[in-house]
Amino acid sequence: MKIVFATNNKNKLSEIREMLGSSIEVLSLADINCHVDIPETGTTLEENAEIKALYVYDHYHLSVFADDTGLEVEALGGAPGVYSARYAGGKGHDSEANMSKLLANLKDKANRKARFRTVISLILAPDSAETAAHPQVLRFEGVCNGQITQERQGGEGFGYDPIFMPDGYDKTFAALGHTVKNHISHRAKAVALLVEYLKKHCDK
Ligand code: IMP
Repeated sequence: MKIVFATNNKNKLSEIREMLGSSIEVLSLADINCHVDIPETGTTLEENAEIKALYVYDHYHLSVFADDTGLEVEALGGAPGVYSARYAGGKGHDSEANMSKLLANLKDKANRKARFRTVISLILAPDSAETAAHPQVLRFEGVCNGQITQERQGGEGFGYDPIFMPDGYDKTFAALGHTVKNHISHRAKAVALLVEYLKKHCDK
């Protein structure tokens, strides 16, 4: 079968293709000629993942899944959460500015507990056109608990990796490196649940 992953992120695409094997072909947005930057207008990770999956399903009538990830810091009431990419403002994805803002907001705070959370929404295109207007949206979640460090550590990864230390480890994601990270991360856990479901239900 073929399924669209509503992303053009090459790392995410190769990670999931490797996990799924050859019986399920994963297409990117570029592969289906979708060149729209799908607006993430939701106020939760769940909403954003669903918005992206529904956009592809509504416009292309293909089976699709989409993900959204956020860093939720306990002492900040769950912030930056769904706004993780844009925490420091601007167009977003300025990791240095995002980390500086987070470290400043946590200055003097004893509670450094945080978690990464990934939500994946999956829509399988139905066989019957009658049900196509009301697709069933399935959801998979992966969580990685940890702590925000006092300062940056390590040179790998992206986003908040240099200041996130997962529970059970004494180094940040950025210092642990991608092999370890990809075994224990929020995204790896959510993707593993998705892969298990797809292999069980769609591996034809
Ligand atoms: P996205 O939903 O995967 O695009 O993630 C949104 C934002 O969360 C990214 O821009 C990063 O700032 C942050 N983020 C997501 N996943 C990770 C991760 O594995 N490590 C560090 N930061 C992450």
